[in-house]
Amino acid sequence: LRAQRLESLGTLAGGIAHDLNNVFAPIVMTASALAYDEPDPERAEDLALLQRSAERGADMVKQLLSFARGADGVRVPVELKHVVIDVQQILRDTFPKNITLQVHVAPREWTVEGDRTQLNQLLTNLCVNARDAMPNGGTLTIAVEHVQLDEAYAEMNLEAKPGPYVLLRVEDTGVGMAPEVLEHIFEPFFTTKEVGKGTGLGLSTVHALVRQHHGFVHVYSEQGKGARFKVYLPAQRTVGEGAATRAPEPPPRGNGELVLVVDDEAPIRTVATRTLERHGYRVMVAANGAEAVAVYAQHREEIAVVLTDMT
Ligand code: ADP
Ligand code: MG
Repeated sequence: LRAQRLESLGTLAGGIAHDLNNVFAPIVMTASALAYDEPDPERAEDLALLQRSAERGADMVKQLLSFARGADGVRVPVELKHVVIDVQQILRDTFPKNITLQVHVAPREWTVEGDRTQLNQLLTNLCVNARDAMPNGGTLTIAVEHVQLDEAYAEMNLEAKPGPYVLLRVEDTGVGMAPEVLEHIFEPFFTTKEVGKGTGLGLSTVHALVRQHHGFVHVYSEQGKGARFKVYLPAQRTVGEGAATRAPEPPPRGNGELVLVVDDEAPIRTVATRTLERHGYRVMVAANGAEAVAVYAQHREEIAVVLTDMT
């Protein structure tokens, strides 16, 4: 039954993911185009936030697609710092003001082999729980540290192997947990929250994601004394330190070449046209295959490239 349910969920997810992609593409492209020549720093910041959020949305769609296809995310070197910065921004905007946010990130960070969207979700789930545990406010601490686990540690912790780990620590000063709650928190659908408030899926997802990253989680909590979650992820030391300082390369510029853009979605055509023109290309558009063939027949000598999606 579970396999069947997952399969139909996959079909559903795949279906909406394609449409959502068409929703996010113009937002991402327009936001970056607007930010490009925005002189007002405050507005530029707003646009950057808009762009980051839309990119995150687009990432989630990719995630949905990979879930639909049964893949388990893309593994690339990730600096947890960037995940923390993303989540921090969202927390600042959405968490109640009586929760003080403290962030400590080790200055030179090792990378973990991982999927940024999944790590984002992992950290978000932990932070949302911390918020729920502090209805009267408190302090939420997020820290990224380096630890070198030795043989002795690995011997006492079955899931650990000796070597370098990035430690993501999420700590709150909330209500804490009794031992009999602590025992069950990673089980799917286990929740102590009232109906409609909790799903009991937050920590089981965290657990699954940590396992997929070959890491492990430790929890420390006492009733009335807050909670501390420590997520250990295996790290690479070499990669990333150079990559962190490298600025992104500016996108290439055209030289008046003519591009034929074919897409059935008007917003995609508009934003593709603007983006290409801004970067030095000329553009013609067509809304479907027949139109495209007609335009191409008239301008075949001039058209340098045709930009179209598969369908
Ligand atoms: P949900 O948040 O939907 O209840 P989770 O899987 O995220 O589901 O968490 C399961 C349970 O673990 C929560 O209902 C709560 O009892 C407990 N819990 C999780 N995080 C904390 C925390 N930071 N402080 C206190 N209790 C927590
Ligand atoms: Mg939760």
